[in-house]
Amino acid sequence: MDLHSPLKKFFGFNKFKGLQEQVVNSIVNGNNTFVIMPTGGGKSLCYQLPALMQEGTAIVVSPLIALMKNQVDAIRGISENNGVAHVLNSSLNKTEIAKVKEDISNGVTKLLYVAPESLIKEEYVLFLRTQKISFVAIDEAHCISEWGHDFRPEYRNLKHIIKAIDNVPVICLTATATEKVQEDILKTLGITDANRFKASFNRPNLFYEVRPKTKEVEKDIIRFVKQRIGKSGIIYCLSRKKVEEVAQILQVNGLNAVPYHAGLDAKTRAKHQDMFLMEDCDIVVATIAFGMGIDKPDVRFVIHHDIPKSLESYYQETGRAGRDDGEGYCLAFYSYKDIEKLEKFMSSKPVAEQEIGHALLQEVVGYAETSMNRRKYLLHYFGEDFDEINGEGADMDDNSRNQKKKHEAKEDVIKLLSVVKNTMQ
Ligand code: ADP
Ligand code: MG
Repeated sequence: MDLHSPLKKFFGFNKFKGLQEQVVNSIVNGNNTFVIMPTGGGKSLCYQLPALMQEGTAIVVSPLIALMKNQVDAIRGISENNGVAHVLNSSLNKTEIAKVKEDISNGVTKLLYVAPESLIKEEYVLFLRTQKISFVAIDEAHCISEWGHDFRPEYRNLKHIIKAIDNVPVICLTATATEKVQEDILKTLGITDANRFKASFNRPNLFYEVRPKTKEVEKDIIRFVKQRIGKSGIIYCLSRKKVEEVAQILQVNGLNAVPYHAGLDAKTRAKHQDMFLMEDCDIVVATIAFGMGIDKPDVRFVIHHDIPKSLESYYQETGRAGRDDGEGYCLAFYSYKDIEKLEKFMSSKPVAEQEIGHALLQEVVGYAETSMNRRKYLLHYFGEDFDEINGEGADMDDNSRNQKKKHEAKEDVIKLLSVVKNTMQ
């Protein structure tokens, strides 16, 4: 099937990116499909293009209202008819809901974005099962798994809802790729037969460094940031209190930083996020509340003031640096005390959750304390081999650089010794 003309027609692109063409092919042929691509890999197009090409409406499940709105606006921008994409959520009034239903019934709507908690509503299920549905796409599918970095219980019910609506093909998309999460997603949705597509997780332009965390950590951060005046960066902290503290210390030192965490009111949060996106401030100091769906291409550094609770989270958070393939420095401060703190936080949780949390933390410790190539360690965690000699970005971490330095120092000593030996003979 010719997929290039619709690609050009709907999106204006001449070429598919990475595995997109194979994925689109799998979907238009009616297969259950599982897509793993790192952030920025182009997952949206994988289901948007088949949805636009096919008859009926594709249901897209997505966890964040803000993300859905962005996508719907983007899709509406490429069509004459606003009805081509809709969001169905609790903010709609009766008239708006009626309009959405009408557009679906008339075959106008190609993409219907729904939050999982809305999809559960009986009224919607009963309506959707009478309509022509092309497929169900589940974006950010790792939200299904407790082993993922952003578990959302509402995702658990999706299997039954999909069945109740119709037995249509299911497409899962995620940027997280541990074996455990993959198996969890496929089993929970009952689609172990899915065609699987997995892109490489290597981000060759990111530089990884871990530094011991001392009492001087804030001074270290200030020094680091002052060498990068005018560049954009994110500093992640574990607690809201720390976020406020660090933001203030940076401000006092004349740096252009704002705080971001769930304790701030929605208006302030939106303001600070916009300031960062519009370059009115250089640095956001944030908890993990900041980031999902933030698509700022020129973030030049991501600092972890506190080590995160899994390597998945670490990969996701550092992945926000260098999305334009330019410089992206990922600096993490590590102290075993922080691991103990995280273990303590978990101690009130159910035993099963504690066990998962503990296993994930051990991987973080392994990464922080390793002397091997950090990119190799990270990629291995995602089930990927990495050639630390010739692989792309092979010397883009502190350990590789140190080893090279050690090696060069050794060579220098050997040269010197041979000179001494020669002159003594
Ligand atoms: P993901 O969801 O995997 O993080 P997105 O779907 O948001 O990634 O896409 C990331 C960027 O890549 C977007 O700006 C999108 O327009 C662009 N993109 C996607 N596919 C192509 C393509 N075939 N050619 C050029 N740009 C593309
Ligand atoms: Mg996406």
